[in-house]
Amino acid sequence: MLSKVVIANRGEIALRILRACREMGIKIVAVHSSADRDLKHVRLADESVCIGPSPSTDSYLNIPAVISAAEVTDAVAIHPGYGFLAENADFAEQVEKSGFIFIGPRPDTIRMMGDKVSAIEKMKQAGVPCVPGSDGVLDDDSEKNIGMAVKIGYPVIIKAAGGGGGRGMRVVRSEAALLNSISLTKGEAGAAFGNDQVYMEKYLENPRHIEIQVMADSHGNAIYLGERDCSMQRRHQKMIEEAPAPGLTAEQRKEIGERCAQACRDIGYRGAGTFEFLYENGEFYFIEMNTRLQVEHPVTELVTGVDIVREQLLIAAGKKMTYKQEDIKIHGHAMECRINAEDPDNFLPCPGIISRYHAPGGPGVRVDTHIYSGYRVPPYYDSMIGKLITHSDSRDSAMARMRIALDEIIIDGIKTNVPLHKNLLTDAMFLAGGVNIHYLEKKLGMG
Ligand code: ADP
Repeated sequence: MLSKVVIANRGEIALRILRACREMGIKIVAVHSSADRDLKHVRLADESVCIGPSPSTDSYLNIPAVISAAEVTDAVAIHPGYGFLAENADFAEQVEKSGFIFIGPRPDTIRMMGDKVSAIEKMKQAGVPCVPGSDGVLDDDSEKNIGMAVKIGYPVIIKAAGGGGGRGMRVVRSEAALLNSISLTKGEAGAAFGNDQVYMEKYLENPRHIEIQVMADSHGNAIYLGERDCSMQRRHQKMIEEAPAPGLTAEQRKEIGERCAQACRDIGYRGAGTFEFLYENGEFYFIEMNTRLQVEHPVTELVTGVDIVREQLLIAAGKKMTYKQEDIKIHGHAMECRINAEDPDNFLPCPGIISRYHAPGGPGVRVDTHIYSGYRVPPYYDSMIGKLITHSDSRDSAMARMRIALDEIIIDGIKTNVPLHKNLLTDAMFLAGGVNIHYLEKKLGMG
């Protein structure tokens, strides 16, 4: 097994990874910025290394500093968590070139999936259903682009090949706006991502966001762990996730899941990953693959009983996965609310000292958080401070447990979005299940 792992992340996910390492007897090195000395996992780690000042560009995104930390502590592998360097192919490559194991896919896989046009092309070859679109990047031929939009059918969406984080996209509803939108999106993409290539897709009006969790080892085995419905989003940021997706049948799950697992075999995928789909009128449309552990992985863990982080560590050590496809069964229903340090009225971040914290508990309640009474939420990073996850035999019961947990949790001293979650957990449409990706913004008066 791996002897010592560097956790190149912070907050709740660093703690989550630390717990998996501990269970497996792996020594842990925490790396942190100067603002993060008091993080819980830093205290619990076997060793810790300060890798730079507070801004993440100088610390968590500082590739030489992270790799040096592995060198000075004699670690053998680096787990990137999510965000920061997790999907940076250059980082993964430098980790491997420096003689360490990158706990994730091969660098060339990350690179291929990071370019959405090449990702879509590969997925099409592998038989994964994609959104009807331009089959490649758009060139400067106006007539051709106009003809293509007519063929796809308005509305269409122009997307940056190198885009991410919900940026670099423009919806076009009529021919009059097409050419201008293409050049505007190209300009923005060039400035934001250093790559001005764009492509065209059919714009789906009212889809749900459903994603498939996959896992593959270096021995040619690949499995799917069912799906998650992450349609409750604001500004492309997920707020509530659940598994399974309301209304999805076992046959649909099997069909799309098997295609994803087969795609993993085709591309020689390694580690945990997620195929993201838009889902409309019973059809799946691939939009992108995330080549890392996701924030919302716990809902899948609760319904399948699989510890995804433990499997990542086993796979990174060159072992076979513990599970075969037939071992994966979906039990009951799980839901996750992301708890953010933010004002629930205007969504502005609310850093500061947590004067008092009480965790909820009881059957089927999991709390993934690094906060404690007296912890200071720094202003430099993402405002998510934890995740409340519940599980039960039915969706209604999982939601009832979530309402109880939201009532029990006490976070004093800063504002959080707990009141908003309480409100959403009484919303009739959400309770009925199957809302689309615009529902939350419409409810919040943004749509
Ligand atoms: P990013 O990498 O920036 O997150 P995605 O390709 O995953 O970009 O798209 C982000 C979001 O944009 C999707 O979750 C969806 O809300 C919207 N979107 C993207 N493509 C389409 C499409 N073809 N039709 C409708 N909405 C889309």
